[in-house]
Amino acid sequence: MENNKLDLAYEKEFKDSLGLSSYDPRVFEAEHIHLFDVTWTDEKGEKHTNKGYRVQWNNKNGPYKGGLRFHPSVTLDLFKRLAFEQTFKNILTTLPMGGAKGGSDFDPHGKSDYDIKAFCEAFMDKLAPFIGVETDVPAGDIGVGGTEIRYLYERYMKVTGKHDCSLTGKPLDLGGSLCRKEATGYGLCYITQKLLDTCLSTSFKDKTVVISGSGNVAIYAAEKAMQLGAKVVAMSDSTSAIHVPNGIDLDIVKEIKEVRKGRIKEYPGAIIIPTKDIWKIKCDIALPCATQNEIDLEGAEALVANGCKVVCEGSNMSCTEEAVKYLQSHNIYYIPGKASNAGGVSVSGLEIEQNKAGESWSFEKVDARLKGIMETIFENIYNTAKKDGRNNDFVYGANKYAYDKLIEEYGTNL
Ligand code: NDP
Repeated sequence: MENNKLDLAYEKEFKDSLGLSSYDPRVFEAEHIHLFDVTWTDEKGEKHTNKGYRVQWNNKNGPYKGGLRFHPSVTLDLFKRLAFEQTFKNILTTLPMGGAKGGSDFDPHGKSDYDIKAFCEAFMDKLAPFIGVETDVPAGDIGVGGTEIRYLYERYMKVTGKHDCSLTGKPLDLGGSLCRKEATGYGLCYITQKLLDTCLSTSFKDKTVVISGSGNVAIYAAEKAMQLGAKVVAMSDSTSAIHVPNGIDLDIVKEIKEVRKGRIKEYPGAIIIPTKDIWKIKCDIALPCATQNEIDLEGAEALVANGCKVVCEGSNMSCTEEAVKYLQSHNIYYIPGKASNAGGVSVSGLEIEQNKAGESWSFEKVDARLKGIMETIFENIYNTAKKDGRNNDFVYGANKYAYDKLIEEYGTNL
């Protein structure tokens, strides 16, 4: 087995957040790491080999569950961190799901449909022996959307002969759930709304909101924030950010990013600024929804200087450790992604429930369950922090609530 330990810096960060001094291998080591070569043939007949990964961290809370990421930057260390985080995130949802993560260094950007399908099939040929509805249920993540899930699941059914729905994020005709596309962004706004209500006796109404990214999470966070009465004044992509002081028209963003697959700077009449300068825009609420480490110390300082009160993460690990410390020490209400972006995996959990029951729930039913789950997550992390005298420290609240639940499931204390 590969080195199955979490990298030391991250282990220390987690332990420090809870004041833990002892080392528990059940918490800090992956149960299984699967590494495999994926050899596939492109449409010109040329062979390529990519790396495949599946890190199954912990299944004490239920079958392994976590996304597949196809991106050239992935490493085993990254997947280990993400699988560890996923374990805690999944416990926070209160649904029966363990933690895992995986994927490949394959880059789907600019690839033909033929090549994406060929890669997905070769990837699934290697992954299939390790997954199943009672063992491990992967989903999409960066670079793995509905198209890839379709290719992966169709291949899974072909090679295993099983139709057990052991992937989530499936297209509707293959047993997918309504509201999955909206889930992470909507869920982010539901938990933020609960925070605003509980801690500041206010709501999204008339608040100025900055949202980074313009992908799946960002677009549906913007949609829900606007539905709840906020004005979203900035969004971004990997090339630039736009500032629209009177409020963004989301239909235009959807047309540019979802339909035309264009660049955010094509938004007519917007002030165009460098991507990272988005945090210099004055706002009440910042929702980072693009990628990891997108708010560094400089970004956090700019947000505080401009009077931002709330930062809730839509992307995974949006803020650097330094940025988190700075925000918290300046009394900003900050919710880490493991709690605030758990909406996506929650609806994946609800997709499993629907598949097992042979049902297809309405959008409204899934959305209502999602809202309830996000509000429960907030209550649990808020109350845990309060109980231990760490009022409004939601990093502590999330880590402590999930860690205690995990240890409780083992039925022992350290
Ligand atoms: P998408 O690929 O749909 O969108 C990502 C967006 O972020 C794109 O607009 C992309 O720009 C932009 N982006 C990428 N890199 C940077 C960068 N360095 N600076 C600024 N913008 C950047 O991904 P998702 O919306 O699905 O996911 C976003 C994040 O949320 C990821 O961290 C993901 O792991 C996390 N997440 C997603 C969930 C989901 O359900 N989708 C669930 C939980 C977490 P461009 O268009 O130029 O590529």
